Amino acid sequence: MSNKSTNFKSFNRLENVLIIGNGGRENSLAWAIQKNKLVKKVYIIPGNAGSERIKKCERINIDINNKNTLVENLYFLKIDLVVIGPEIPLANGLGDFLRKKNFKVFGPGQDGARLEYSKSWAKEFMQDANIPTANFWKVNSLVDAKKVIYSSPSPLVVKADGLASGKGVFIPNSKDECFRAAESIFDGKFGKAGNAVVLEEKIRGPEVSVFALCDGERYVILPSAQDHKRLNERDKGPNTGGMGAYSPAPLLTKDCLDKIIKRIIEPTINELIKKKIDYKGVIYFGLMITESGPKVIEYNCRFGDPECQTIMPLMDQNFVFLLEKCSMGNLTGDELIDTSHKVSGCVIAASEGYPKEYKTGFPIKIGEIDTSDCQIFDSGTSLSKNDELLTDGGRVLSIVCQDKNFDMVFEKVYKNLKKINYNGMYFRNDIGHQVRKNFSWEN
Ligand code: AMP
Repeated sequence: MSNKSTNFKSFNRLENVLIIGNGGRENSLAWAIQKNKLVKKVYIIPGNAGSERIKKCERINIDINNKNTLVENLYFLKIDLVVIGPEIPLANGLGDFLRKKNFKVFGPGQDGARLEYSKSWAKEFMQDANIPTANFWKVNSLVDAKKVIYSSPSPLVVKADGLASGKGVFIPNSKDECFRAAESIFDGKFGKAGNAVVLEEKIRGPEVSVFALCDGERYVILPSAQDHKRLNERDKGPNTGGMGAYSPAPLLTKDCLDKIIKRIIEPTINELIKKKIDYKGVIYFGLMITESGPKVIEYNCRFGDPECQTIMPLMDQNFVFLLEKCSMGNLTGDELIDTSHKVSGCVIAASEGYPKEYKTGFPIKIGEIDTSDCQIFDSGTSLSKNDELLTDGGRVLSIVCQDKNFDMVFEKVYKNLKKINYNGMYFRNDIGHQVRKNFSWEN
């Protein structure tokens, strides 16, 4: 990363920005965007209770599927830039629709979102572009799945082809378990998302997330991040949407990043261009650093959560210009992001029972917390009639801090977590264990 600071401007009106989504990711985007002096107002549809604590932020309650009402409201509010957070509206073509109505939109169209909403399409895309990824078989029936599973000499991973809220991936320990996973998908566990199944060679290595902001041709890379997907400490237990993260990831050395750029990021963008996909948004590269080099595990067409909450505090007030430039197709590609001075860490406070069933509606008490380089981005909260903050999701709060090193970061995060309390609060104590020099597990 460079030591210079970002030195680019917008000459366009950028007073009113709209964010679509309701999680910690969208709150952290709103928080980073409002830092810019040109931005007067950040609207969020629908946001959550935490959005109301963010400066310049206002929630709007409109159904984004009611497109006429949506557009009328956006004209009325004189929205200068729309940022679409989650994958579902992107997969449904909201980006295309708003662009046709002449809005500047950060977020790919339906064609680009396919990188995420069809795993088999993404694998074929990588094959076409010669991008390193695990070998795979797309199967359309349990009979075909059975043939592949029982004839494969090596262990396989089973994935529902479509969007399954991060729950459609199984990592079985035996061929029978593998077969049962495929069976459950074809039985309709994920509805239409399971019409096809991708069977993938199981690969090994540490994982890292890289985000490239793309304007259709050029790109800018954000600081890398590593997240903790598993529910329990020592990275055990079921997969979740993410229980915490840290950024940047020291694992990603300059040499490794150079390889990723050359073998993965640039070929991805070139292939998008070749396929006439005008991708204006973020491409999330979920990577595994294997013995034979970095390989793509998955693409997402939006920011990861909680990586986004972790990275946003490292951005300066020019961040919104990057999003705007992507939306307009005029990145120069050499915009600089200075993150040399700080590192960031995030721990998710979840609801007991998550990622399975959990209860909501418990009052959240937040005591006096350390606010210097610390943020709380609400992931799933609501307000009661008396304006009391309540739990309203599996993941409830994202507690994020920055400092000179990861030990200092996580000391602050965990100190703040002690000041937060609600019925059934659950969080991992070992987030960032790989990068905390002073950390050791008890017993
Ligand atoms: P995905 O939703 O595709 O990112 O998968 C969720 C998690 O499953 C990843 O973060 C990996 O830990 C694991 N995973 C996915 N694909 C593979 C693979 N081919 N080999 C090993 N682990 C995998």
